[in-house]
Amino acid sequence: MTDIAAILPDLVALRRDIHQHPELGFCEHRTAARIAEELRALGLAVHEGIGGTGLVGVLKGTRPGPRTVGLRADMDALPITEQTNLPWASRVPGTFHGCGHDGHVAMLLGAARVLAAEPDFAGTVHFIFQPAEEGQGGARAMIEEGLFERFPCDRVYALHNWPGLPAGTIATRPGAIMGAADKFRVVITGKGGHAAIPQDTPDAILAAAALVQQLNTIVSRAVPPVQAAVLSVTEIHGGEAHNVIPSDVVVGGTVRTFDPQVQARIEARIQAIAAGIATAFEVRCDLAYDRYYPATINDPVAAADALAVAATVAHAELAPEPAATSEDFSFMLQQRPGAYIWLGQGVGDHPAPLHNPHYDFNDAVLETGIRLHCALARHWLA
Ligand SMILES: [Zn+2]
Ligand SMILES: [Zn+2]
Repeated sequence: MTDIAAILPDLVALRRDIHQHPELGFCEHRTAARIAEELRALGLAVHEGIGGTGLVGVLKGTRPGPRTVGLRADMDALPITEQTNLPWASRVPGTFHGCGHDGHVAMLLGAARVLAAEPDFAGTVHFIFQPAEEGQGGARAMIEEGLFERFPCDRVYALHNWPGLPAGTIATRPGAIMGAADKFRVVITGKGGHAAIPQDTPDAILAAAALVQQLNTIVSRAVPPVQAAVLSVTEIHGGEAHNVIPSDVVVGGTVRTFDPQVQARIEARIQAIAAGIATAFEVRCDLAYDRYYPATINDPVAAADALAVAATVAHAELAPEPAATSEDFSFMLQQRPGAYIWLGQGVGDHPAPLHNPHYDFNDAVLETGIRLHCALARHWLA
């Protein structure tokens, strides 16, 4: 067995090197090159340039077997100025690993080292390093470029570090674990005219006011009371002069849901209400509805497997509820059964919350993450 403690100093150094050299989504050239170099040194076949800067390392077990598993880490940083003052703080102004993806890379490379040293499993492990998780859909980009056709995975797993959960504790849940994030924009078009001659000009301002009120009835009236959903109108733009009825007004906002049926119902209601407002106020309402990240839905069997496997490496618990934030591993879970798993970073002030300028990945949990990745692969490829 590889002595994980012996390789940890190396992995901590690698994690901090990546932390010092953060790269934004689809620009992870140095990070991806570093990962490719590490994987090649282990003897893995490496396939680069999938969905931009994404790459996959392939490790075949020494025993034959049809099964395949994908383990995923994200590589991108955030456009935030780091305020940790750590010796390994970002050297790139305005760019920062504030979501711990540097730790995700180090844990998955650690797992590749351990599994490559002792590949006594039946089947194939695909180490998936994806770009652009932070809002740009790097996972979708890899899928669109044939990720799962080229590298079959009948199970996929991803770990995300989780401040607020005790350090080293592992948690997941069947079903929804992260929310869907949608945005909408309704352009209300009237005609524009003199404020003193309203009979000649459809009033886009009044239509917008009615639209905002009606949109706020959707969650209370069209969503079952036991389901969670949020619809917030966050923007309204229109009008510039006291004596002009403007020709158009824009209303925008966001929708967060955990169930695709609820998501579909809300989108349909926005469409219907906008059409009704158009008729009632003699304006045009053009809706743009963008489902940019779907809900992250764990396969129940894969999540149960993940919890049972996690209990063999650390304290594992069933997460009581999903988080309202979103994650583009959701696109991979739409394609293949699997689970998204939280790895505790610690409670209290250290580390700071994700996306906070004082955040830093807790290196003390690297070992647990490596063990979990390895155990998930070995369990599926037993
Ligand atoms: Zn993030
Ligand atoms: Zn993240």
